[in-house]
Amino acid sequence: MGSIDLRSDTVTLPTPEMRHAMAEAALGDDVFGEDPTVNRLEQMAAERLGKEAALFTASGTMSNLVALLTFCGRGDEMVLGSESHIFNNEAGGAAALGGVHPRTVPNTAAGWLEPEAVEACFRGPNIHYPPVRLVCLENTHNRCGGAVLSPEQTRAVAAVAHRHGAAVYLDGARIFNAAVALGCDARDLAREVDAVSFCLSKGLACPAGSLLCGSRDFIARARRNRKMVGGGMRQAGVLAAPGIVALETMVNRLAEDHENARVLAQGLCDLPGLEVDPRTVRTNIVAVAVTCLPAAELQARLEQRGLRASYLGGRRLRLVTHYGIEREDIRRALQIVRECLPG
Ligand SMILES: *Cc1c(COP(=O)(O)O)cnc(C)c1O
Repeated sequence: MGSIDLRSDTVTLPTPEMRHAMAEAALGDDVFGEDPTVNRLEQMAAERLGKEAALFTASGTMSNLVALLTFCGRGDEMVLGSESHIFNNEAGGAAALGGVHPRTVPNTAAGWLEPEAVEACFRGPNIHYPPVRLVCLENTHNRCGGAVLSPEQTRAVAAVAHRHGAAVYLDGARIFNAAVALGCDARDLAREVDAVSFCLSKGLACPAGSLLCGSRDFIARARRNRKMVGGGMRQAGVLAAPGIVALETMVNRLAEDHENARVLAQGLCDLPGLEVDPRTVRTNIVAVAVTCLPAAELQARLEQRGLRASYLGGRRLRLVTHYGIEREDIRRALQIVRECLPG
């Protein structure tokens, strides 16, 4: 029996249909705008997110960087969550490459930014202060356990930003997980934001790629920035082809991952020495606090028995369900955790 890998939904492998689409994809030079498969994927993505245009990039990190470079100049300020992926997990790219000044606001446990806290970041035109150009949100929220922001929560933050003349960017790496959890369209979650990105290479199971979506003018400027950071790919249709398959066939099945995560969380919360609140598990991420032994030691024990989890520091482990993980794997995973707990 192989190991059960719940470290991340990025470990997913492409479906047979994706492999086939990659082999058969019509190709051209995308830097010349001539790859028909990339062009089709960009059009589909823009439509799904309710924006005028889209740009295919190598990764979620590249979409975020290109977006920040397009919204902000050197010395401009961006407001973002203290637990956001951009602030914590992207090597400080916006600061290193764009001179963008980050201002963090504490994320709520549910991954939101309180509108009052965002409001307080706009300090006025005094020459001591960097101008705030951008407010960033994240949906679903990775470090907040896959938490979901509602359209109303997004609108409330966007209203503050827009009232002060700042733009709003949504890091929607897992926005389809949020849409499936809420039973709405992804475009309902992106309506109030100026630009949004999503990943193909997570729950949608593609080998690589992300889409940045926004107005025609924004995407035209983003296209230059993508070239600047070395993200102009040539026959990128081989990577765009599985993205088309993903948008057509892999979105609705995310509900299975969410159900598996709920079953996992329910099973874990019955075990002594672990703290899990199944009510907070709304998508495919299960955050666990380990109270009976060091979390890193539990992770090592699990790994030895064939269950892989991510250690997030402190007492925290993370388990992520995804394509390729079946209900039987969840049952086995729970059995392995039981065997690894003391007593
Ligand atoms: C994974 C992730 C990214 C970055 O995506 P990569 O493709 O790994 O670069 C950005 N934001 C969030 C919220 C993510 O979960």
